[in-house]
Amino acid sequence: MHSRTLTILGSTGSIGTNTLDVVRQNPDRFRVFALVAGRNVELLARQILEFHPQVAVLQDSADIDRLRALLPKSETPELLSGAAARVQVSIADEADTVMSSIVGVAGLEATYEAVRRGKRVGLANKETLVAGGQLVMDAVAASGCELIPVDSEHNGAHQCLRAGLRREATKLILTASGGPFRTTPKEALDRVTPAQALNHPTWKMGNRITIDSATLMNKGFEVIEAAWLFNFGPDEIEVVVHPQSSVHAMVEYEDGSVIAQVSATDMRMPIQYALTWPDRAPAPVPKIDWAKARTWEFHAPDFEKFPLLGLAYESLRMGGTASCILNAADEIAVEAFLAGRISFTAIFRVVAETLERTALTTPSNVEQILAADEKARRTAQQIIETLA
Ligand code: NDP
Repeated sequence: MHSRTLTILGSTGSIGTNTLDVVRQNPDRFRVFALVAGRNVELLARQILEFHPQVAVLQDSADIDRLRALLPKSETPELLSGAAARVQVSIADEADTVMSSIVGVAGLEATYEAVRRGKRVGLANKETLVAGGQLVMDAVAASGCELIPVDSEHNGAHQCLRAGLRREATKLILTASGGPFRTTPKEALDRVTPAQALNHPTWKMGNRITIDSATLMNKGFEVIEAAWLFNFGPDEIEVVVHPQSSVHAMVEYEDGSVIAQVSATDMRMPIQYALTWPDRAPAPVPKIDWAKARTWEFHAPDFEKFPLLGLAYESLRMGGTASCILNAADEIAVEAFLAGRISFTAIFRVVAETLERTALTTPSNVEQILAADEKARRTAQQIIETLA
């Protein structure tokens, strides 16, 4: 058994707290070196008192005093803030493993630097591959970093790909729950509310990814991530709607045999796999009870009703900064939808139009990716102004 010392980027989020639960259940396997949060000072304080990291990092320096006030002096780790500190704890020699679970582009730089240092990286943050795919995968090849996906679909695919040689695999199939509007008629989508969109049928996640699941944008991002992670072309990746979310991914081999990965819909499963791979550890969640009858359905996705899925494939074919722009525009559009400024279907329009209006570039460093991201955000904001 290999014991690991972790830096957790985004410890106060959904993936972060699930990661800490896996640590809690496996005290002999895992120790925490650093916890990195955004603004949730109270939860970070509780995590510090339970897991005793050497360093804790917040987004803003203004919050440090508030955090210090919640901790007894004897249990106060080094307290830092900001982007440079996030990088510092991700490349520190003390940590051999980084869990990348900050939401948004704020997670990109620290994850990239951890990859460059050859750390084991458990990858949840979408932007790392959606915005930085080429750059990050080049760094993986150069450093030999073990980049293990945490997202249940990619984690499932990672497991399915252990069943044969990569060159024998002909297709990757990602499942999608279909989101809360799977059976809602296309015409009614215009009127759905943020509360309805936040009500995901099978997974409990952060707000951004929950809305992205409702538009199927998230599935599109997963197609992009899968292409980078496993080196499949867009035509070799298929999305299939599977409302029960029990089969996470499948890999078809050249002889027509299909290997599927099945497990409980609980993120602690893939998180633990990413941390213990190539070993397995006792299940962190209840196992599937096969004595209970169950039905699993599989349908083709509706590309007309959910155009962002097709746009993700398109951005993959376009290359360069196309998927970075797609992501930035989507984040702004989702924020505007959640704030009640635009309708659900306007998210589609904002994203498509931003992609159309923004010139593509080929970024060669993180700064250039962040610049493209910023520019796309501004364009998306302008488009929203005209709609709101
Ligand atoms: P949450 O919104 O629940 O958590 C986000 C985390 O990021 C929080 O800890 C938040 O801190 C932190 N954060 C946000 N901005 C900053 C910043 N500028 N600096 C430092 N920390 C910051 O998101 P999830 O856990 O759901 O998702 C995390 C990532 O993983 C996303 O990219 C998501 O797409 C991806 N993912 C999530 C899955 C899931 O099941 N949840 C599945 C697959 C992928 P705070 O709360 O303290 O402000």
